[in-house]
Amino acid sequence: MTDFCSPIPSGPQARRRTRAVAVRYGAREVVIGGNAPVVVQSMTNTDTADVIATAIQVKDLARAGSELVRITVNNPEAAAAVPAIREQLDRMGIDVPLIGDFHYNGHKLLNDFPECAQALSKYRINPGNVGHGAKRDSQFAQMIEAACKYGKPVRIGVNWGSLDQDLLARIMDENANRAEPWSAQAVMYEALVTSAIENAQRAEELGLAGDRITLSCKVSGVQDLIAVYRELARRCDYPLHLGLTEAGMGSKGIVASTAALSVLLQEGIGDTIRISLTPEPGGDRTREVIVAQEILQTMGLRKFTPMVIACPGCGRTTSTVFQELADRIQTYLREQMPSWKQSYPGVENMNVAVMGCIVNGPGESKHANIGISLPGTGESPAAPVFIDGEKKITLRGERIAEEFQQIVLDYVRTRYRKNETVGA
Ligand code: SF4
Repeated sequence: MTDFCSPIPSGPQARRRTRAVAVRYGAREVVIGGNAPVVVQSMTNTDTADVIATAIQVKDLARAGSELVRITVNNPEAAAAVPAIREQLDRMGIDVPLIGDFHYNGHKLLNDFPECAQALSKYRINPGNVGHGAKRDSQFAQMIEAACKYGKPVRIGVNWGSLDQDLLARIMDENANRAEPWSAQAVMYEALVTSAIENAQRAEELGLAGDRITLSCKVSGVQDLIAVYRELARRCDYPLHLGLTEAGMGSKGIVASTAALSVLLQEGIGDTIRISLTPEPGGDRTREVIVAQEILQTMGLRKFTPMVIACPGCGRTTSTVFQELADRIQTYLREQMPSWKQSYPGVENMNVAVMGCIVNGPGESKHANIGISLPGTGESPAAPVFIDGEKKITLRGERIAEEFQQIVLDYVRTRYRKNETVGA
């Protein structure tokens, strides 16, 4: 007989043990690894030299729940803009730590723009893009020296689109000398993992503390990502940044990222995640933050925002009232969260059910904190509302959506009100 009470041998309960890396800005500290919850991060797609556009997008990402935000620092104009972006964020009351993403010229930019080096809270270094031969070693060393000088952590971020070609050639040579050579795919995996670990060790030899280093090995295939991170996790105890690179647009990007990340997270692998979605033209960049949060929340690893449970609808829901209400409530809850987080602690645990008819509506609604069962086709035009498992009121007429939203707000105000200490 199955014993559902047995502890799950793998899974979130068995989180991989890692060092803890603190990323700081002012009084704000975000810890990656150790016992800290999995951190959500994101990246801007504005021109970093455009201070206002970048600061606004960072603010939007942070307000959506991104705990770290990465910005590209690709040229002198971008590097010069970083301190101004930080100041603009300060003026807007946004203290999210900024990560600088460097390729090719990071050694020079960090040296030539000390205020940029100081304003950033972390540096991302791609070891495949720091130069070749002797230059590679010295330019990598210059970036690590900057991290040591300014007291910043780094991510050694390997990407298979820009893998260190010298290292790949070395691993291929080693493979050719094997009695039974590995497949090309296995050689690629080995090169990715070796690049991350050897560069982290090199950074430590150069004086950067081991608890200032996180690693990533991003690839664009789901099975490739799982294989690479399992091996990376087995061979080191640095915190790992998870993400499927170039995940793609729309549902494909979301599904591929979710498929890959949930397998690894379930095995306890992964300390910070980023979902690399390609936005639709003019689309909202904060989508990647919401998807990251929803992966973690639906897996039971973190709570960010009240969840709306909605049935898929079927032939019993021939009007759009039900879909509109589900969408309206989810949007409303998400929009309220930045202020509710402060005023109503624990509200993120709330469940709201929006159901399309009486088949599963009342039952599912009773399991939620608040649930509404809308009338299906041919049913009497009444929507019973359940609060903490009991039917409290039945809504009718044209204003069901507004009235239900008010009921949700009243519930939040009563149930999650902060306990004020008398005399405090
Ligand atoms: S609850 Fe009703 S409307 Fe929703 S899927 Fe089930 S039968 Fe269809």
